[in-house]
Parts: sequence; structure tokens; C-alpha cells
Amino acid sequence: MPDDAVDAVVVGYGPVGAVAAALLGRAGLRTTVLEATSSVYHLPRAAHMDAEIMRVLDEIGVGDDVRPTCAPISGMHFINADGEALVRFDVPSGASFMFYQPELERALRAGVDRLPSVDVHLEHEVVGFEQHADHVEVTVRDLATGRSRVRGPGTCWAPTGPGAWCASSSASHARTCSSTSHGWWWTRC
Ligand SMILES: Cc1cc2nc3c(=O)[nH]c(=O)nc-3n(C[C@H](O)[C@H](O)[C@H](O)COP(=O)(O)OP(=O)(O)OC[C@H]3O[C@@H](n4cnc5c(N)ncnc54)[C@H](O)[C@@H]3O)c2cc1C
Repeated sequence: MPDDAVDAVVVGYGPVGAVAAALLGRAGLRTTVLEATSSVYHLPRAAHMDAEIMRVLDEIGVGDDVRPTCAPISGMHFINADGEALVRFDVPSGASFMFYQPELERALRAGVDRLPSVDVHLEHEVVGFEQHADHVEVTVRDLATGRSRVRGPGTCWAPTGPGAWCASSSASHARTCSSTSHGWWWTRC
């Protein structure tokens, strides 16, 4: 087995990858995170979580860092341009939070940094997987040097879907630049 064999590879260090890495690392699994970009994406996309997600953040040790940065809400009203209600929901106090995604991601990454069993490689793009009987080989391109290499064997985790890049697309940029507050319009109840 090669020296850099790990138990799990997390592809993508967005919020989902960061939570996956934290859960794996806290379970004592040797985990490698591979992220193509060099830093947290500067614009928010996700904006809301419920209490169940907050409990997951508590479980991975970042809840106390994240909670003060959130705005608790008691529900949402979606209205049209004439102010007419389209959809409305109300939730009990403490069950729903608005957050600013770049801030949340920084807290998640700080939590991952505290885990000795997790290695994070920024500017490393996964360009292929190969499934073998007892392991997965992951082909990675180091974007700083342009060199490719194969990592593995290891168990492969791939939390990012085909649309993963969309969040940093120019369309996303255009949509988020016109918003306010945490990057989004919402009606606080
Ligand atoms: C305009 C817009 C609005 C949105 N609004 C909401 C919303 O209101 N609520 C909500 O919950 N969600 C919303 N989303 C979705 C939001 O992007 C996700 O909820 C959240 O960012 C998903 O987290 P993620 O970690 O799965 O993916 P991402 O945040 O997209 O992170 C994926 C990461 O994987 C990396 N990556 C991708 N491919 C590779 C590869 N081959 N090798 C290495 N790294 C790779 C990317 O660089 C990226 O950093 C919105 C998205 C967009 C674009």
C-alpha cells in the first residue's frame, strides 16, 4: 500500500465536504480533502439551516463558533412583487437560522484544521477515479504545478455533485451581487 493511502478522500471543500471531513476525522479515519480552489468562495449561496444541522455542527465542535454569527428566525414569508403571500412557514423558536456562508465555511475549516487525522490540499483538482476490488484510485492535478498524480488506495467520498462548480459560476456571481444583508433577500417573520 502506498504511503499516502488514506481511509477516505473528500472531493470538494465546500460546506458539505468540510462537514464530511470533520465527521470522518473525528471518527479517527485518515482523511484527505482535495479542493480545486485556493480559498473559501467569497459569495453566499446557501443561507439557511435548521436545528438538526446546528446539532451536527455541535457534534463536530464548531456550533459555538457558528451560533453567534447566525440570525435566528421564527419562519419565512415568501411574497411576490405586490407583497402578496406565496408561501409561509413558521417554526418554533431556536429551530431555524440564517447564516452567511463564507463565515460558516471559515468556521468549518477551522474545525477541520484542529483534527490531526485530516489533511487538506487546496488547489488540487480531482480529475478521475478508478474503482478497484478493494480500493479506489483518485487522480489529482496539482493546479500550482500542473502535475497529475494518483492517490490511493483509499475509500472514496465524493460529496460534490455534477453541479458543484455552478456555485462559483458567473451566473451565481451575477445573482448574488444584487442582493443585500447576508447576500440574500428574505422576509423575517
Ligand atoms: C445561485 C445559487 C443559489 C443557491 N441558493 C441556495 C440556498 O438558498 N440554500 C441552499 O441550501 N443552497 C443554495 N445553493 C446551493 C449551494 O451552493 C449549496 O447549498 C452549498 O454551497 C453546497 O455545498 P457543497 O459543499 O455541496 O458544494 P459547493 O459549495 O459548491 O462546494 C463544492 C466544492 O467542490 C469543489 N470541487 C468541485 N469539483 C472538484 C474537483 N473535481 N476537484 C476538487 N474540488 C472540486 C469546488 O471548488 C467547491 O469548492 C445555491 C447555489 C447557487 C449557485
